[in-house]
Amino acid sequence: MSRPELSAQSPDAAPVLSFVIPFYNEAPNVEPLYRRLCAVMDHRPESWECVCVNDGSTDSTLLALTALHAQDARIRVIDLSRNFGKEAALTAGLDHAQGQAAIPLDADLQDPPELIPDLIAKWQEGFDVVNAVRLSREGEGWLKRASAHAFYRTFNRLSKIEIPEDTGDFRLLSRPVLDALRQLPERRRFMKGLFAWVGFRTASVFYHRAPRHRGQTTWNYWRLWHFALEGILSFSEAPLRLASYLGFLVSLVSFLYALDLLIQTLIFGNPVKGYPSLMVAILFLGGVQLMALGVIGEYLGRVYDESKGRPVYVIRKTVQGNNIDLL
Ligand code: UDP
Ligand code: MG
Repeated sequence: MSRPELSAQSPDAAPVLSFVIPFYNEAPNVEPLYRRLCAVMDHRPESWECVCVNDGSTDSTLLALTALHAQDARIRVIDLSRNFGKEAALTAGLDHAQGQAAIPLDADLQDPPELIPDLIAKWQEGFDVVNAVRLSREGEGWLKRASAHAFYRTFNRLSKIEIPEDTGDFRLLSRPVLDALRQLPERRRFMKGLFAWVGFRTASVFYHRAPRHRGQTTWNYWRLWHFALEGILSFSEAPLRLASYLGFLVSLVSFLYALDLLIQTLIFGNPVKGYPSLMVAILFLGGVQLMALGVIGEYLGRVYDESKGRPVYVIRKTVQGNNIDLL
């Protein structure tokens, strides 16, 4: 499925706001989320739509979303052909958002809809991006908080762009920002980085992050570690540079060691330094070389992935308007 052209959509029909929500096995959260969203938006003048992306859920999420669409046509459902991961699901949703601004939300109610009026207020002041920054993270252990902090510090030090700490995907993105995001062709989409990369006038509002409403997070530490690596490798060449510096350092040490050997041989006439030092040198050099190769491999893998040019996501069907549109 190619990414849709904006011009195909009639501007009159376009709502003011698009909520973009990725769902992966979130059936128990569908109703509560809809109710809380309505409770907030019913008092507001802005028209809205909700682009719900079903990211290959294996539970009854799709059924619940389709039922909701039958009840309220503002709910649009995009059903992906399998689980593509949150970043791809979010991309699919943002690609299909028709509003003047889009607000990505997590399906588990960790991003409180009650904050939406604050986001809109800042947007109306003239900001293009309004970040929702977490003041607290309830339901998250110290280890997750500490590792998140370490990630933001490392990322911001290594890359040229800066991603704001404690800011998830919950934010408001105005139409120019959405159009800019659609121009980024990369397939590996580290959304936090892409949001920061496009720039624009940015403001922040603050909130306390609640624990997950129902269900369990799918992000274990192994997955988070890979997510962090993905971010750094997509936005920084520092690891490659580190490999070169390490190579340089090792060469320097070897040179000094060779000099030491030479002098010892000339003075004491003993050319054999012994087996242990030889093994240490071989193993150390082997390790450094493998590490540098690994770093190059990581980047090469990404180049390979991008060069294949596969779409970021594949849509199985969309449920919107009056008819279920089979693709
Ligand atoms: N999600 C998704 N695809 C996945 C994993 C998660 O679309 O493969 C969605 C999930 O349904 C939720 C959001 O991404 O709406 C955030 O996921 P989760 O709450 O598990 O992450 P956490 O809040 O723990 O970072
Ligand atoms: Mg969550």
